[in-house]
Formats: sequence, C-alpha cells, structure tokens
Amino acid sequence: TEKYEKGLEKTRKTFSQRMNELFANFRTVDEDFFDELEEVLIGADVGFESTMEITDALRQEVKLKNAKASNEVQQVIIEKMVEIYEKGNTDKPEINLNAEGLTVILLVGVNGVGKTTTIGKMAHLYKQEGKKVMLAAGDTFRAGAIEQLHVWGERVGAEVVSGKAGGDPAAVVFDAIKEAKQQEADILFVDTAGRLQNKVNLMNELEKMKRIIEREIPGGPHEVLLVLDATTGQNAMNQAKEFKKATDVTGIVLTKLDGTAKGGIVLAIRKELDIPVKFVGLGESMDDLQLFDPNEYIYGLFS
Ligand code: GDP
Repeated sequence: TEKYEKGLEKTRKTFSQRMNELFANFRTVDEDFFDELEEVLIGADVGFESTMEITDALRQEVKLKNAKASNEVQQVIIEKMVEIYEKGNTDKPEINLNAEGLTVILLVGVNGVGKTTTIGKMAHLYKQEGKKVMLAAGDTFRAGAIEQLHVWGERVGAEVVSGKAGGDPAAVVFDAIKEAKQQEADILFVDTAGRLQNKVNLMNELEKMKRIIEREIPGGPHEVLLVLDATTGQNAMNQAKEFKKATDVTGIVLTKLDGTAKGGIVLAIRKELDIPVKFVGLGESMDDLQLFDPNEYIYGLFS
C-alpha cells in the first residue's frame, strides 16, 4: 500500500539502490558477489543468522547453474526472506481480541520508543473499526507519562483512566477495568512503565498487573505488545531479549521504520526472538500505524 511505500522509503532507497548495483551488469555469482550481498543485508540490520541463511540458500540454488546475477537470483533472495519470516509463524498477524467481552492489551517497552504514540494510534485504529476504546495510565513512574496519555486520549476521543503519579499501577489497572466494564468498552489499552534498569521492579510490576487482569477478565491480558524503536538496531534486539525474560511478550510493535534505512531488522527479530511483529509504526501521526504484512513488506523492500 501507499503507506508502506512512503514509510519504508529510506530503507527502500538505500537497500534497493545497493541491490540494484549488485545486480547490474549480469555479473557472475561468485564469492565476491556473496561478500557484497552479505554486506548489503547486514547493513540493513537483517542480522547475521538470517543473512547466512539467505546466502546459504542462494549458494545451493546457483551452484549447479554457474549463474549470473539475474532477476531469478534476486527472486530467490526475496523468497528466502519471506520464508525466514514466515517459518513457524502460524499466528495471525492480527491481534487477539476477546470475543466474549472486554479485551485488555498491555503495552511494554522502554521510554522513548514510541509507546504512548502507539497506544494513541491503536486506539484510533480500533475506534475507526467501530470499537469503544479506553486507555489506562499504568506508567505512574515517569513524570509526564500520565499527562501525555491524556493528550492522546483527547486527540483520538478515548477516555483515560489514571491515578496519582507515583501510585500503584496495578490499582490503576483495577480501576480502569472496572470502568471499562461499566461502560461496556471493547478494548482497554494499558500503558506501563518500562524500567529495564530495574528488572526486578519491572517484573514484579508487570506480574502484579497481569494477575489483576487475569482475575478480572478470564483469558486476559489478550496481548502483551512490546514496542521497539527500529532506528536503534542492536539495542532494540537487546531490549527485546530482556523483556522476553521479564514477561510473556505476545507480539512486537516496531516503530519509526520511516526514520531508518535498516528495515531488515524485521527479519532479525523474527529469527532471533521468534516473536511476531504485529504492527509497524511509519510516522508520527495517528494514521501512521499498519498491521504488519511480511509479504507486502519484503516485496516492498525490493520495489
Ligand atoms: P514513549 O516514551 O515510549 O511513550 O514514546 P513516545 O510515544 O512519547 O514517542 C517518542 C517520540 O517518537 C515522539 O516524538 C513520537 O512522535 C515519535 N514516534 C513514535 N512513533 C513513531 C513512528 O512510527 N515514526 C516516527 N517518525 N516517530 C515516531
């Protein structure tokens, strides 16, 4: 779609330009070619493991044919990338909604990755689908987080339940669920404090929130979405590994893809973390959130 094309412009420009250079002049697919291909893939944050898997597959394909760098060779690369992404991925790209009543979705992630913005965008998206949406200000730790959520709530027209700064986030969640049930809301998005530097607190806080949600809404939380900033590369990968240890992350929202030329990180996440990317952020406005579609995404990188 148009949104993908615009949001991935930086990645596309760099990546497809280098790919085109690599595939110019029908050069022979030799070791020099593989070296350069690896460099392009690693440079786009595809990750070491995925890069090796792609080039190994290509080596096998071209071995017997003494191939030239052609469209067919490029097609093998694309297909391998899609395959790496989709392997083991039986989950739908959509988010898990509670068919019986209130859906509760927790958003986790460190400060600055775009968590609040993502909650605003998601609220907007599901409101457009006719859902009644509410927000819970579960980040009581950071000064300004509650205020910021209220700003987004007003912008998209969703009620925000909040408590005191410094208060117990689990109490906010409890109040928010009660309110959401009373108002027969469809989806409650819960903001949380992403204190990775204090892992024990982070874990305790998330567990406590989850216990409350589980008790109040059977089957909840229906998603625990980790928000990662695509522009931070390896840092994002490390954050993901830490959060994976702290709680059961069910999906990833990858933000700021419009701000990086390294959109290949989607493959690295899939390969190394085995958590599906559910949404991608492609800009700062409330419309700039898209359900992630691996086919569209990967083909988009080459167009
Ligand atoms: P939080 O601290 O994780 O809640 O982060 P915020 O939601 O406050 O976002 C931090 C900054 O990133 C803000 O300036 C947002 O406008 C910006 N931002 C968030 N998502 C995206 C995105 O997908 N693309 C771009 N370009 N900027 C984004």
